[in-house]
Amino acid sequence: MQGEIERVAELVCRSQRLVVFTGAGVSTESGIPDFRSPGGVWDRFDPEEFTYQNFVGSEEGRRKYWQLGRHIYPVIKNAEPNPAHYALADLHRLERLDCVITQNIDNLHQRAGVPPEKVIELHGNATRARCLGCGRSYTREEAHEWLEGGVEIPVCPTPCGGIIKPHTIMFGEAMPARETHEAERRSRQSDLFIVVGSSLVVYPAAFMPLYAKQSGAALVIVNLSETPHDDYADVRIPGKAGPVMERIVERVKERL
Ligand code: NAD
Repeated sequence: MQGEIERVAELVCRSQRLVVFTGAGVSTESGIPDFRSPGGVWDRFDPEEFTYQNFVGSEEGRRKYWQLGRHIYPVIKNAEPNPAHYALADLHRLERLDCVITQNIDNLHQRAGVPPEKVIELHGNATRARCLGCGRSYTREEAHEWLEGGVEIPVCPTPCGGIIKPHTIMFGEAMPARETHEAERRSRQSDLFIVVGSSLVVYPAAFMPLYAKQSGAALVIVNLSETPHDDYADVRIPGKAGPVMERIVERVKERL
């Protein structure tokens, strides 16, 4: 693996536009389970139940969603960034990072020190919520306190009474247009694209590495299990995100 790490460090040092693309696997070492590994979220809950259509379409859908959220949100809130998140923040400080495109909703890149304007969130952010009626913003913490106080389905206080929805993209919901467009643009402009901890099976997010590769970028995939895009990768490292990214960034610092 040392050879691959050296190669990626060299690519990072030569790169003018490095885009890092992250998925749930970058946060498992922070204690947040991913979706598709054994023991992941979809081993315990049925994704069919947690669709956008069920959420906006029925009280029962919203009740089930908030029940699950009541258990998941504290895990996200109490998680701390891990060495992989800090390594990416180091790349920013070294002026080596164009942006992070993330499928994660956990806010950990920002908490590790990547400036919010450099984090493109394709699937939203679990720390915020919004009223679908009047557009008023809420923190997820507020909604969580209501749930803890016995409210089953948070609604916007009167007179609005609208549906409050977490600021996360649900199954069946349209992708956020601005973020998706910006992610595609930055992917196409990159000369080095590093995937960290993503199964690369969720679309349109999984198109991003292909856009980058089509535009001539070198593609690096750091992921424990195989992905459908492995054949396109210039370097593939089947290791844990934390130690691998930490070692890459250590070597970058030594080379600069
Ligand atoms: P995924 O669950 O489909 O895949 C995660 C991948 O990461 C797997 O291939 C796994 O082998 C790999 N992995 C797990 N731990 C790793 C580690 N320590 N180092 C390296 N690789 C590791 O996740 P995805 O590709 O992000 O797509 C699923 C969806 O799940 C996304 O849309 C995302 O929004 C959502 N999600 C987000 C979070 C979060 O915010 N932390 C958590 C769970 C799911």
